[in-house]
Amino acid sequence: MEKEVFTVGDRTDKFCAVCGEERGHIVTSVTKRGQISRVSCSKCETVSTFKLTSRTLPHPASKTPSPYDRTLTYRAGQSMTHEMFGVGEVTRVIEPKKMEVLFQDRLRRLIHSQSPE
Ligand SMILES: [Zn+2]
Repeated sequence: MEKEVFTVGDRTDKFCAVCGEERGHIVTSVTKRGQISRVSCSKCETVSTFKLTSRTLPHPASKTPSPYDRTLTYRAGQSMTHEMFGVGEVTRVIEPKKMEVLFQDRLRRLIHSQSPE
């Protein structure tokens, strides 16, 4: 059996009962053996206990999101492709020019809404 070790902040996909759909979740708690024990929905932030059986595989995107552009202003829920990190979804805007994006592996902070040079 595949041995996976997770750390807090990793990303996994599971069905969110509140959103009623499968979506990316952030790992908020792991066991001493590196197994996920709690996750938080990236959209509604509902924290739920995690069972391996509840994990789902990421869906292939129906269409490829636009490339990340730091001069654009993003909103939560928007998707993008990043040349290094792959496909990501904006989970929240932290500051007018800073946002959190959930990529396939983990949550990252990116700048946005920058003035074009
Ligand atoms: Zn949710």
